[in-house]
Amino acid sequence: MKQAELKGKVQTVLGLMEPSEMGITLPHEHLVCDATTWHYATDEATERRWARHPVTIDVLWWIRYHPFQNLDDLQLLDEEVVIDEVLRYKALGGKTIVELTIRGLYPDPKAVARIARTTGINIVMGTAYYVESSYPATGADVSAKSEEEIAEEFVKDILEGFGNTGIHAGLIGEVGCSWPFTDNEQKVVRAAARAQKATGAAVNIHPGQHETASMECVKVLDKAGADLSRVVISHIDRAVREPANRIALAKTGCTLEYDLFGREGYYPPRFRVLDIPNDAQRINEIKELADKGFEKQIFISHDNYTKSALCRYGGWGYGHILRDTVPVMKIKGLSQELIDTIMIENPKRMFTFV
Ligand SMILES: [Zn+2]
Repeated sequence: MKQAELKGKVQTVLGLMEPSEMGITLPHEHLVCDATTWHYATDEATERRWARHPVTIDVLWWIRYHPFQNLDDLQLLDEEVVIDEVLRYKALGGKTIVELTIRGLYPDPKAVARIARTTGINIVMGTAYYVESSYPATGADVSAKSEEEIAEEFVKDILEGFGNTGIHAGLIGEVGCSWPFTDNEQKVVRAAARAQKATGAAVNIHPGQHETASMECVKVLDKAGADLSRVVISHIDRAVREPANRIALAKTGCTLEYDLFGREGYYPPRFRVLDIPNDAQRINEIKELADKGFEKQIFISHDNYTKSALCRYGGWGYGHILRDTVPVMKIKGLSQELIDTIMIENPKRMFTFV
């Protein structure tokens, strides 16, 4: 495929699509995903029991306040369960999901294509490397690869497809960055900028766990010549907690993504990010950004990547924003026009190749 064919189109796992077909879009989710790279062992014997317990109602109380610590929770491997969960989103009016499971999280394009066919939901899939601690799971020696080689991999996934599957990526990301921001991760970010220039794709960044990490990612992208109006910074609800820093980030032109909807305040204490907003506070922050004129640079999603996030296991699922959050937005005075801008127009513009 030539880059010219992509121009003006959205690329789903089932092929090219007109942007007008996107509709309500979740721009950051995981459907089939193995995030065990985040798992860490606890020292106490009784805690180890809960860390290894299958996800059932018996352990849900512990998992809710110990994110990343239950091994089974970090594995979304059951396609049938995911189909059922995606259909709940569809029943609420959802049309498109962006699946950001990338190298390091065990991406499965063929399963994602089957889910798209079975559910009738449009799915756009990313290509990238996740954080450096997940590189062993990619099976690749990222240190040995040059920036050009990594960029070529991303371009190949977009233009020719993943491996020999014939299933194409529709954006670059989520590009994994840690704090401290490693040399390899910076190389991958520069490769993303290079691949963006070659394809016209959007870039999604997973910033490290530090207040300044997002801006550092943007600086690397900017220096590498990326189009910042086509860059999304994920996880604003845990990564950028100072209002002034959010405004500074928005002024660069990038899109700020609140993608932890459904999580009501707890995050692993070891990361020392203690002020995680709840959904009502997320909406307040979004309203502040919109009131300052940044309404075209806001994304919202759930970033579901654990079993306990799914309805089947007692979580909120992929339908939570439409079912539970949009009504609260309306009570808080967000107009339908603004909600449509955030959930339909912004993703449509971002995921259309230029
Ligand atoms: Zn994610």
